[in-house]
Amino acid sequence: MSSIKAPFRTASRVEDVRYEIRGALARRARELEQQGHDILHLNIGNPGAFGLRTPETMRRAVVRNLKYSEAYGPQTGIFPAREAVAMQFQSRGLTETRYDQVMIGNGVSELVDLVLRSLLEPGEEVLIPAPDYPLWTAAVVLNGGRARHYPCPAENGFLPDIDRIRQLITPKTRALVVINPNNPTGAVYPESVLRELADLAAEHDLIIFSDEIYDSICYDEARFVPMAPLAEKTLCVSFGGLSKVYRACGWRVGWAVFTGALDRADDYRLAVEKLAALRLSANVPGQWAVQTALGGYQSIADLVAPGGRLHDSRQAVIEACRKSRFLDLVAPMGAMYAFPSVRPDVMPDFDDHRFAAELLEHKHILIVPGSSFNIPDRHHFRITLLPEAEDLAAAFGRIDELLEELAET
Ligand code: PLP
Repeated sequence: MSSIKAPFRTASRVEDVRYEIRGALARRARELEQQGHDILHLNIGNPGAFGLRTPETMRRAVVRNLKYSEAYGPQTGIFPAREAVAMQFQSRGLTETRYDQVMIGNGVSELVDLVLRSLLEPGEEVLIPAPDYPLWTAAVVLNGGRARHYPCPAENGFLPDIDRIRQLITPKTRALVVINPNNPTGAVYPESVLRELADLAAEHDLIIFSDEIYDSICYDEARFVPMAPLAEKTLCVSFGGLSKVYRACGWRVGWAVFTGALDRADDYRLAVEKLAALRLSANVPGQWAVQTALGGYQSIADLVAPGGRLHDSRQAVIEACRKSRFLDLVAPMGAMYAFPSVRPDVMPDFDDHRFAAELLEHKHILIVPGSSFNIPDRHHFRITLLPEAEDLAAAFGRIDELLEELAET
């Protein structure tokens, strides 16, 4: 009898999950690093990895409160953090917002999973922008739902096509996801578009999940408009956190704020709370910095203003794409990414996955292929704007070099 046994089986539902930001290319990058190569990681929006520190006041808040962080906290989060987020929503015009509408989690990532797991019956549908931040699609799929992608085309400044969304709504549709400012495109939605989305959701009794983790990262004349005050006729769950605006990705602190039709959401909110109880509590130390983060001077303003790191890096990328004969770019107006495309008239057979693999092998730059963000078009790629402007300019020099080489073959 053979002693060879079959490999341990994995759950089939995991096979349908796509999250290529940290996928096979990132694994290959690690191998190359182990062989001694320097790899420029443009694949993740991780400020700390590029030397952008969490504000010192926040670090002090955590250190001073470490002694209060040893026990499990409440599953919904510690009171001062919830209260601080509620006050932010009060200042956005929702003056009645109370701390008990706020849930703190281990980053927005965990909360996305909790709100979907508490909502979806098998086969129920969630409307998700395309391109999307792929966590949303992955979490819908993992929780038995079906992601219906609504296009946000480059020709429309990556804004949603509202008529198309309307056509995608079926009796099984439960929720509408909005990501504003958007990852990966950098689109910042004007109030008129948000109003249309809110009204559409209310008309069809859909929950709005508004992912606003980049809320204070807007460039030039772009202004962030929160969804919650526009969406009082339905249940709106808005997401924010410390990872991006406050450069504390590693602390794993995010929040979800429930507003709007709360009178019809008691059971649902209790369900989310019940699931949150299964993991006992979110990381406690970082929660002590939420109040400090949301109050007072917002240092992200220095990074997005002229002369600031994100501002200047964005300018460098816009300039590099303008100079390139291969690249088109809808200038990102928010968040910390650019989503250029390789011009189909210049390179009709361009394949984003093959290009990303070759860029990594030959130029040691790690990017994310655009189709990883759940779009069929294979001409885009995403990079983060976090490195210094000159490093990004040099990276685009190498990107153009590879495109020249490919064009010649
Ligand atoms: N939502 C969007 C749009 C993101 O880009 C990210 C991270 O990149 C997240 C959520 C996850 O954030 P967190 O670190 O709070 O889990």
